[in-house]
Amino acid sequence: MKLLGKLLITGHIEALTGLAIGGSKSDVAIGGIDNNVIKNSEGVPYIPGSSLKGKLRSLIEKREGRPEVCSCGTDKCVICTVFGTGLPTKNKNITAGPTRLYVRDAKLNEDTKKQMEKKEGIFSNLELTYTEGKWENQINRLTSKAAHPRQQERVPAGSIFDFNMIYNILTKKDIEYFHQVITALRLLEDDYLGGNGSRGYGRIQFQNVSILLKTVSDYESGGTGKEIFSGLLSDFEDEEAKNKLKSLVEEEEKA
Ligand SMILES: [Zn+2]
Repeated sequence: MKLLGKLLITGHIEALTGLAIGGSKSDVAIGGIDNNVIKNSEGVPYIPGSSLKGKLRSLIEKREGRPEVCSCGTDKCVICTVFGTGLPTKNKNITAGPTRLYVRDAKLNEDTKKQMEKKEGIFSNLELTYTEGKWENQINRLTSKAAHPRQQERVPAGSIFDFNMIYNILTKKDIEYFHQVITALRLLEDDYLGGNGSRGYGRIQFQNVSILLKTVSDYESGGTGKEIFSGLLSDFEDEEAKNKLKSLVEEEEKA
């Protein structure tokens, strides 16, 4: 198996509802608001690549009807091939090869960040610099009784993050598997990211999606790559993209 090319998938993630991703519940509350949002060292929220990748993986697992984390390590398995084996595998004959999908941390978009810092427009009522507090009744899991309402921190609706994923193509089969990644992205738009999904948190949309193929020949010649798609996922044409990718990858195989 050798590398034929890389798909560079970039674009925006817009929070359609408030997002609560990855904060530590045990952290000290700031201004009476529970800390529920993971932030970088400058205090700016981001979406960890591992959260996004984990969610995509679980959406494909559900779609495939696999209740457990797969560790088969075979190239017949979309999950092990695309995401890597979830657990140390007992299989001595691993055929899946290296993990295909890499998901980087999605940073808060610069425009969103500036608007928040200036408390402009939809962000004029933020309680904290980049986040809002929302009053929620906490349910005690042992007694099922509602405790006193507490303010939960979340990234407000309308926030935009810049996402960035890389998908390595090593075999033609990876083109088929890539379509499962697209399916997972679509499923995620009707699911949720982060915590409190049952309260309507974490609804997102992928916007300005750009999918670019850079073949090994492009890397060798300094080429900029070929556009496979740009736009909203709802406009993504599966067969068209598949055929385009197939012919470009076949060309590369011959090169
Ligand atoms: Zn597997």
